[in-house]
Amino acid sequence: MAETMQFQAESKRLLELMIHSIYTHKEIFLRELISNASDALDKIYFFSLEDDSILIDRTKLTINISIDKENRTLTISDNGIGMTKEELRDNLGTIAKSGSLAFKQALAKASDEIDIIGQFGVGFYSAFMVSQHVTVITKSVKEEAAYRFESSGSDGFTIDEDQKDEIGTTIICKIKENNEDENYDEFLESYRIKSLVKQYSDYIRYPIQMLKDTDNEDENEETDNTDDTKQEIETLNSMTPLWRKSKADITEEDYHKFYKDKFHDWEDPAKVIHMQAEGNLSYQALLFIPGKTPFNFYSNEYEKGLQLYSKGVFIMEKAKELLGDHFRFVRGLVDSPDFSLNISREILQHDRQLKAIASRLEKKIKSELLSMLKMDREAYEKFWKNFGMQIKYGIYQDFGAHRELLEDLVLFTSSRDKKLISLEEYVARMPEDQKEIYFVAGDSIEKCEALPQSELVRDKGYEILYLVDDIDEFVIQIMHMYKEKPFKSINQGDLDLLNEDEKSEIQKKSEESKDLFVSIKEALGDSVEDVRLSTRLKSHPVCLVSAEGLSFEMEKVLAQMPDAGEKMKAKRILEINPEHPLLQTLRRVHSARPEKLHDIAWLLYDQACLMEGLPIEDPMGFSKKLAQLMIDAF
Ligand code: ADP
Ligand code: MG
Repeated sequence: MAETMQFQAESKRLLELMIHSIYTHKEIFLRELISNASDALDKIYFFSLEDDSILIDRTKLTINISIDKENRTLTISDNGIGMTKEELRDNLGTIAKSGSLAFKQALAKASDEIDIIGQFGVGFYSAFMVSQHVTVITKSVKEEAAYRFESSGSDGFTIDEDQKDEIGTTIICKIKENNEDENYDEFLESYRIKSLVKQYSDYIRYPIQMLKDTDNEDENEETDNTDDTKQEIETLNSMTPLWRKSKADITEEDYHKFYKDKFHDWEDPAKVIHMQAEGNLSYQALLFIPGKTPFNFYSNEYEKGLQLYSKGVFIMEKAKELLGDHFRFVRGLVDSPDFSLNISREILQHDRQLKAIASRLEKKIKSELLSMLKMDREAYEKFWKNFGMQIKYGIYQDFGAHRELLEDLVLFTSSRDKKLISLEEYVARMPEDQKEIYFVAGDSIEKCEALPQSELVRDKGYEILYLVDDIDEFVIQIMHMYKEKPFKSINQGDLDLLNEDEKSEIQKKSEESKDLFVSIKEALGDSVEDVRLSTRLKSHPVCLVSAEGLSFEMEKVLAQMPDAGEKMKAKRILEINPEHPLLQTLRRVHSARPEKLHDIAWLLYDQACLMEGLPIEDPMGFSKKLAQLMIDAF
């Protein structure tokens, strides 16, 4: 008796979506069904490796396609692992991915050794984009009985016992009738099916077979598929995995198609890296730098790693050991005859071959990125937008252990034209008398630009790097210098911008204003470390700089951290522009009306804080003092 069941709610929704889909690439259903068949073949392959009682001929694992025009059916069958009744219900009745997941979990219990390709995409339900009815006949390796699943769509499905000799799964798609908008007949044409297999499933490593078209394929030819004797079987896919083919035989489009198909991306990769190494370390690697940031890239959900193959046979998904965190955005695979099929995650961690390969990949990824930076600026800047943050984290991570590897890849915005530049470019453009790499951190490029401290530096013809991401300054701190040029914040410590004459001039002026500064310092108390004349200001009267050590931007970042406890503060130094008329005013106040100096000192200090984007300690007080100043003035 056939049991009628309902699809799980989510599945039903997906299914309805499929049935009414106006998606223009409906043909992908074939890829999905073939991919499922291929997964099922992988599964039985591994099962038979694990369990001696399963006797299969591993060389006979195939996917078979047949067309019956009269009955409008397209049939895809495999001699893979099959499904038990429960699996039928669970895997096809509930949403995609559950099957592979469950299988993975079951295997994990037995041993940790095998991982199954997690397929995404639309999966089995995509069959309903082109089928009015789908029948699945399957016999599991784990059960004697065979079962038949039938469904015409979202109304539910039935499962019944059936007859089937061979272990495996047969999927029969009853193809929809053509209508005004859509042509479905094409899926009953063998030439179309062949070209779809080529297009989407060429690298599937099991033969995808179909009966060969006979020359005069019309009526009088045998249509009876059970009589195989006279009919020739044709293998449609080349089976050679793309990465094992000679580079000369692969077009860019092949690479892109492969990438999109295998890694479920809609966009072409930004870079394809194909390595084929022979010798004592022999391997092929096919790596891709995605063209966009995966939506979950900056979450825990995203797993880094490359697929592992041995001579074209899939071993493991996401071998983490092959990629440092700094390059975790790279997708791809590595194939080496030296990997054993039964290699475990534990062994991998200590595998020397693997480490050696990982280090080659790393160098190659870097050199490819560098050449992209030199040859295709636009592409590199897009890459940087997508994954630059990860590179910067990479520099900061592990106490700067990967600094050397990554420092050439970093871009910052330059004060010169507000464009991104690399450190190498910065150093190359440095005037001869410039000894340090200037930078300033701020919330935005506009704010960095507006900082009073940046004006004179820029005027002197020096470029300033504007650091606008929270992490930037930490990165600079870890790097410390680049090509022996130390980094120097323009609002921190001393800036060595003056020549000897200018220095002695400042010295003199400082002497003259000494008492004034002592009084200001007294008024401000512990809020400032020092009050002095500035050598970095041009048009602004005052600015705040920090002593060496913690900077203002770091102070802000640390203040945002939960649990910061005792807030760390940068040491503040109030600097006054010696060329600004304000200095004379201050001196006048100091000598003639010293009782006013306290308030004016605070007004100056608070202004300086505001320009740095730092909070004012006493906004009410600030406002009162300002009001009083206006009253006094008018
Ligand atoms: P996914 O492949 O992402 O898991 P699908 O919707 O394509 O999602 O398939 C759902 C599940 O159905 C698979 O995970 C698998 O367990 C099962 N399945 C589908 N096709 C086959 C098949 N030909 N042989 C065995 N199991 C299959
Ligand atoms: Mg699938």
